[in-house]
Amino acid sequence: MKIVVIGTGYVGLVTGTCFADSGNDVVCVDVNADKIAMLNRGEIPIYEPGLADLVVRNRAAGRLRFTTDVSECVSQAQIVFLAVGTPMDEDGSADLTGIWGAADSIAPYLASETVVVCKSTVPVGTNRRLLERFQALLGREVRVASNPEFLKEGCAIADFTKPDRVVVGVESEDVGDLMRELYKPFLRTEHPLLVMGLESAEMTKYVANCMLATKISFINEMANLAECVGADINDVRKGIGHDQRIGFQFLFPGVGYGGSCFPKDVKALIHTAREHGMMPELLDSVDEVNRRQKSVLFRKLNEYFTGDLEGKTVAIWGLAFKPRTDDIREAPALTLIDQLLEAGANVRAHDPVAMDNVSRQYEERIELFIHQYEALNDADVLVICTEWNEYRSPDFGEIRSRLRDSVIFDGRNLFDPKQMKKQGFFYSGIGIVPVENAMQASSTAPDLATN
Ligand code: NAD
Repeated sequence: MKIVVIGTGYVGLVTGTCFADSGNDVVCVDVNADKIAMLNRGEIPIYEPGLADLVVRNRAAGRLRFTTDVSECVSQAQIVFLAVGTPMDEDGSADLTGIWGAADSIAPYLASETVVVCKSTVPVGTNRRLLERFQALLGREVRVASNPEFLKEGCAIADFTKPDRVVVGVESEDVGDLMRELYKPFLRTEHPLLVMGLESAEMTKYVANCMLATKISFINEMANLAECVGADINDVRKGIGHDQRIGFQFLFPGVGYGGSCFPKDVKALIHTAREHGMMPELLDSVDEVNRRQKSVLFRKLNEYFTGDLEGKTVAIWGLAFKPRTDDIREAPALTLIDQLLEAGANVRAHDPVAMDNVSRQYEERIELFIHQYEALNDADVLVICTEWNEYRSPDFGEIRSRLRDSVIFDGRNLFDPKQMKKQGFFYSGIGIVPVENAMQASSTAPDLATN
């Protein structure tokens, strides 16, 4: 099929590349001329494992092209995907400027049989507004479908090519059939393509992300309580996970969720609920618990240094909002950095792939190191914000020799507290009481009501 993808970010580039790899003729379009120039030089503007090889292979085969010019490709397309960003607006709603901009730019070139498929995460009702917009612009009907994307940054290729399910919202059966044909190469096992109405498809994406965010905020709140009562959240997690109704997935305590999706999607669904006169109490709490959890490491550091972080040096391992991506949007590490700088501390940091993005944002205000151990030199403590694999089995002797004090605050519970004590570290995780205090409630546990 001839496909055009508008928006060449994490979702658009992966979508276009994977469809090209299954034999389609794909053109990816972006308004960002620098991005398109990079792609045309064979450079990949984002870090996503496996993506570069696929882009190179499909460009070489002539199935994948990049351009800033919609007029040269849209008129021949059978399907035009919209994969532009839908960031959070000031009032928490989704900012749809990119969607309307993209729709207006393609409208004059749409052939009568072309289907416009919205892959961006958009509030319920947006696809219907797209239908109305095309009708108003062209004086005729344009077929529109909703096809929300569920890929995860860091394993986007595998998620796209082996999806748990594909969700498609349509107005007519033939569009559902077209989408089934397009996705056939990726659905050879039992995984379904679910065809439903436009509104249901749009809502499915938000409900999925809000459910996952709810799990994270739930386990984080329980982790904070575990610290108060002297329990170990890792044991509790195992204790509940074996119950098949609960399971283990997405129940790891940490420093709060970040990234370009959960924070904005939770806020957008809250906004939608309010617009309909509902009080989304559960989602409000999920959002608020997460806001507090992003400060958990600062709170612990502040207590450790008895409120005086001025002039202290903090080494941070992990800046991306999660491993295997360079995405730092809403990353908890950035919340910590801001709080530390505000308190007068110095920050030395390392991340395997996100340092360019962080450096653009902080410039000279923090120091970044290519080697993870160099970030530790003369630092008072090490703080772990992202669970990159290279941090899981570090050389503890090397850590001890470089830090001023053998102190680790671990926002991802990577290590065994007993082993850490044996190695001579003061070790503080999330939802675990430091070993010397393990049998009694922590006197420094956070005030759950106010933090
Ligand atoms: P992104 O910010 O990485 O990329 C968006 C791209 O769209 C940018 O390159 C931008 O220049 C381009 N763009 C904006 N307006 C345009 C226009 N009018 N014409 C052409 N290009 C335009 O965004 P993303 O992370 O790929 O997310 C895209 C959508 O997919 C969002 O709605 C997001 O919520 C959703 N989503 C993202 C993920 C993820 O993990 N990143 C996963 C699932 C769904």
